[in-house]
Amino acid sequence: MSSLDFLPHEIRIPSGHFIGGKAVGATNEDIQVLRPSDGLPLGWLPAGDEAVVAQAVDAASDGLKASGWATVAPRERGRVIRRWADLLEANIVPLAQLEALGSTRPVTEAFNGDVRSTIEAIRFFGEYADKLGGDIAATRSKSLGFVASEPYGIVGAIAPWNFPLSMMSWKIGPALAAGNAVVLKPSELTPFSTVRVAELAIEAGMPAGILNIVHGYGQDAGSAIVRHPDIAKVSFTGSTRTGAAIMSEIAATGIKPMTLELGGKSPQLVFEHVDDIRHTADCIVRGFCGNAGQACIAGSRLIVHERIAEPLIDAIIEMIDRLAPGLTWASDTKFSPIISRKQADRIDAIVQQSLSKGAEVRHGGGFFADTGEGAYYRPTLLHRLEAENPALIEEIFGPVLTIQTFRDEEEGIALAAHPIYGLAAGVHTSNLSQAMRAMRGIAAGTVWINRFIRSGDMVIPTGGYGQSGFGKDLGRQAFEGNLRHKSVLIDFD
Ligand code: NAD
Repeated sequence: MSSLDFLPHEIRIPSGHFIGGKAVGATNEDIQVLRPSDGLPLGWLPAGDEAVVAQAVDAASDGLKASGWATVAPRERGRVIRRWADLLEANIVPLAQLEALGSTRPVTEAFNGDVRSTIEAIRFFGEYADKLGGDIAATRSKSLGFVASEPYGIVGAIAPWNFPLSMMSWKIGPALAAGNAVVLKPSELTPFSTVRVAELAIEAGMPAGILNIVHGYGQDAGSAIVRHPDIAKVSFTGSTRTGAAIMSEIAATGIKPMTLELGGKSPQLVFEHVDDIRHTADCIVRGFCGNAGQACIAGSRLIVHERIAEPLIDAIIEMIDRLAPGLTWASDTKFSPIISRKQADRIDAIVQQSLSKGAEVRHGGGFFADTGEGAYYRPTLLHRLEAENPALIEEIFGPVLTIQTFRDEEEGIALAAHPIYGLAAGVHTSNLSQAMRAMRGIAAGTVWINRFIRSGDMVIPTGGYGQSGFGKDLGRQAFEGNLRHKSVLIDFD
């Protein structure tokens, strides 16, 4: 038994919203949260509404005034944020366990991936806080102009359920380091670990009110964040459909900037010659089976040269046959449950629609048997798909890979295009020039060459093209996206 294994009842579940540095509404039992692994009850949430969001915004505004968080020397903010990262690191095992219990993330992956990436993101932005230089220019003789970067004030952040902690950290890290206060709504499906991270921010010395968490449903708490007039910027990660609703709401109720990290349907383009076919197969399997495909960047469309297709598919099948479903709190679990029965049924419905339109199952299909109330979908390969097949178009958000073959480079690059999404792509080839041509030819916010899936690259931003969104998480770009710029011009004698 590894030190990461645990029993669900051993884990403390935080209760209540987290507003002004403390739990609020802890006795409200409005929303029941279930454990994805086995569908059993995990805990309760208060359902936040407009009044609770207003309370959090007031706390943020008071916190900014009382602490001077926005105007304090950036290195002071950075110091607090780095101390917070250190505290998170000291608590990495319990955080990984809480994350695993309440989400689809197996505890070993939560430990090695999600929580580490959360710590790295928070530390990265803590280190970035005082690194921003400014533009300065002599505009004419006896005149000087410079650009002052200023935080927005209060940033509203709304996060999805698929990687609760890392998605949270990508939003709040740059916003806080830039001097903003934050009101965050985690997904109502995976709310608890985010509260623990906020509690640790207070322990690290972050002033009360600078980071607030409001729970609730999207149409209530989420929409109230979007509409609140004192929330100056909205940073959202979630589906394209919700992103569009948020854009309409912002357009209807006022003007404010937003960062939208939305859905995807990423291609994995494999050319005829790759250095190591097993490495390529591993990239494909990680790309569509990581978190059981519940990843915005999931590489869910394999587009492969016809001469390498069969050996590659054989290697993929050998690897996916070793993926067994398991409880997220067992340290040897490598394959995730689906977040809910409803989401699992949606995955199966798209697969069935795809089959009814002529596609065929090459391998897998359907649910793993004997997994109790947990929903585990088998890694599934679909082939013989016509261009308009729904499995090629819809973001399935499950472990389903479509397979298309091509004969020449131009055809392969053309197949990689998607009508609306442009989040990420994998390109696999031993020919560097070919890789560069494909990279240029694919409209996506991230292109991985001979690898797939991000890990630890905090300095490189992530974000979408097309209806996968705009604005960036991570990197200098995310930091700057949480600042506005004031031009200052001075004449002197
Ligand atoms: P979702 O859009 O259903 O919900 C995301 C968040 O928005 C939740 O907190 C939800 O409560 C809230 N919400 C829902 N309706 C709202 C409304 N009207 N106003 C304000 N907030 C509202 O997405 P999900 O199912 O939680 O997550 C999966 C989706 O997220 C997928 O489409 C995935 O591709 C996307 N995603 C994108 C990225 C990225 O970086 N591009 C990363 C992770 C997930």
